[in-house]
Amino acid sequence: MEINRREFAVIPAAALAGSLFAAAPDDVPWQRKIRRLGQLNMTEHDPVVLNVEEWADYWASLKIDAVMVSVTGIMAFYQTKVPFHRKGKFLGNRDFFGECCAAAKKRGMHVIARMSPDLNWEDAVQAHPEWFQRDAQGNPIHHREDARLFNTCMFSTYMTDYMPAIMKEINSLYDVDGLFTNAWPPLGAMPVCRCAECRKLPEPGTLAYWEKFNQRIVYLWKLYDSIAKEKKPSNFFFANLGGGIRSTADLVQLGELCEWFQCDNQGRGGDETPIWGCSLQGRVCNAVQKGKMATNVTAGWSTGVPRWRNVYKSPEEQQMWFDETLASGMVPYHHIVGGENGMGEDRRWLEPARKYFNWMAKHDVHFVNKRSIANLGVVMGQRTHLFYKPPTGTQMRQYMDGMYYALLEGRFLFDFVHEDKMAPEELRKYSALVLPNTALLSDEQCRQLRAYVDAGGSLLATFETSLYTELNQRRAEFGLADVFGIRKAGDMVSTNFNGYMARIEKPHPILNGFANTNWIPGAQNRVPLAPVDGPVLTVVPGFVGYPPELSYPPQSHTDEPAAVVREKGKSRLVYFPGDVERTMWTTGHTDLARLLQNSIRWVAGANPPVTIVGDGVIETFAWETQAGFAVHVLNYTNPAMHRGWIRDFYPIGPQKVSMELPKGRSVTRVELLRAEANIPFRVTAGKIEFTIPKILDYEVAAIHSA
Ligand SMILES: [Zn+2]
Repeated sequence: MEINRREFAVIPAAALAGSLFAAAPDDVPWQRKIRRLGQLNMTEHDPVVLNVEEWADYWASLKIDAVMVSVTGIMAFYQTKVPFHRKGKFLGNRDFFGECCAAAKKRGMHVIARMSPDLNWEDAVQAHPEWFQRDAQGNPIHHREDARLFNTCMFSTYMTDYMPAIMKEINSLYDVDGLFTNAWPPLGAMPVCRCAECRKLPEPGTLAYWEKFNQRIVYLWKLYDSIAKEKKPSNFFFANLGGGIRSTADLVQLGELCEWFQCDNQGRGGDETPIWGCSLQGRVCNAVQKGKMATNVTAGWSTGVPRWRNVYKSPEEQQMWFDETLASGMVPYHHIVGGENGMGEDRRWLEPARKYFNWMAKHDVHFVNKRSIANLGVVMGQRTHLFYKPPTGTQMRQYMDGMYYALLEGRFLFDFVHEDKMAPEELRKYSALVLPNTALLSDEQCRQLRAYVDAGGSLLATFETSLYTELNQRRAEFGLADVFGIRKAGDMVSTNFNGYMARIEKPHPILNGFANTNWIPGAQNRVPLAPVDGPVLTVVPGFVGYPPELSYPPQSHTDEPAAVVREKGKSRLVYFPGDVERTMWTTGHTDLARLLQNSIRWVAGANPPVTIVGDGVIETFAWETQAGFAVHVLNYTNPAMHRGWIRDFYPIGPQKVSMELPKGRSVTRVELLRAEANIPFRVTAGKIEFTIPKILDYEVAAIHSA
């Protein structure tokens, strides 16, 4: 351990726990004031190997505001009396939870009681067969990794009897500040259970099942929250969420009652996952519960397939995940597993997080965000991501991956907008919305988008956007046909070996940069449209790629539009009948990347609130903060951008930033938080301009403003 013990001698423990506590007004709930979270995920062995004082000192030295401490539900870390709450075999007579709780409290940290309602043992299966998930043959379902454990059913009394008994016991014994469940609600997919209760429900995986699934989540969430509040009114319940745009729980429903959005989004592996997974999660949080607490769990352990729970990952990869957490407006959470031998057999995961969190703590006021200042919205289509069946051989995530990449390459500042949050007051701040294959939209959502366009808003949509209702029923015509001025002229056409081409018919800003060519690539799949007046791009139908003797179009000119571009009053409208963003993602085609960026730029209009000019691939966020404004720049210019993990950072050079200043705001100082230096700036004609000389992995330009 390399704790600086002198620090503890001179600073009172309470002062260590978050510099904002003293400054923030009293009517802000405590959970909205936390800036850093920590968790050593406790193993059964920890009661005999973990030094509790050392554990608490470590978290205090990271200036952690709240720690997760394991109660569990699979195995008790205290002297429980709840039947089937099996005590860990190394627990003995100790009150391990109680000792940890007291040690954390002594150092001014809040304590969240962490439970896992997902698994229990054979003896519970014998006594309470109704608690467990069943397969089609009626057998209880073993846990996939350890066959001694069985999966519990969220529709059973396990959730309404057993878990509440543990929660009430914890309330009665300990000074906890909140109750938390890990592994529930289910994250990756909805459960498939054939127990007696579940047989009464609609078929798993359907929209009808999803409704019951969400009702159950809301019911249990409220139940657990009421139990949490029995302890103190300021206590509350929260649970693991995350899953990005593919979250299984209805995010808008949950966003209403969820005090704290806890994202179990711990990191990527060495697979082909882009680096921005954590930022994307932050955007999802902002879309559904603006202003409430959101934390992102970052694994110190090795995420991926296979994973190594007890070995540290690349420090650069972990650091980028922390960077994205902060940039996207979430609170960072350092997570390690097992405390043998002084906080793990691999202790390399201790120091980097301490260094990072202590740097962050010096600048807390700049990470307290009031609002995003982006004026471009990207509709995230949760229902589409859960229920839409994309063309054979394609994956739904490729649409957002492709659009996200285009947005980063074009250096756009954007927010996510959930399809259930498109009321006029939600959309007013956006000059344009992008709909990447947002196939499922209700009549009401189409009406909201129509009203948005009528009020001067601009839209860009692709492929099957609005071709299905919110219940995944196919429409005969696009729900937004009138808005884009399009008419469906047939069923989807897929091309496999040779994509269709798009013929340039006339100049248009969306075609900027295409010189000396008549054709650019179309996409892999498209919905044929009826002809429109004055098309900018038309379809050259697909033909064979091999043999090359036959690689020419039998029909070189058609009037089928490959893009429909319209202006209607102040609003600009672009519709691509092809899956251009997905095809760009899977082929990497630079023409499609250019076409998308040009199109987004055209619909977004002149005068973006922030521009950043310089080399490299970056992701940007800009916030109004407690101290003024903050422009966050993440440097993804890295060979590991599209495939984990980051091995090293590669600095980018000068980035010229220009930001519109709201009327009446003056600037006293621009401070680079990573470089820890003030830089020169200029305010002219309502804009502030400055240059960030160099960015390694991340920089925050904090604009001190009154
Ligand atoms: Zn069941």
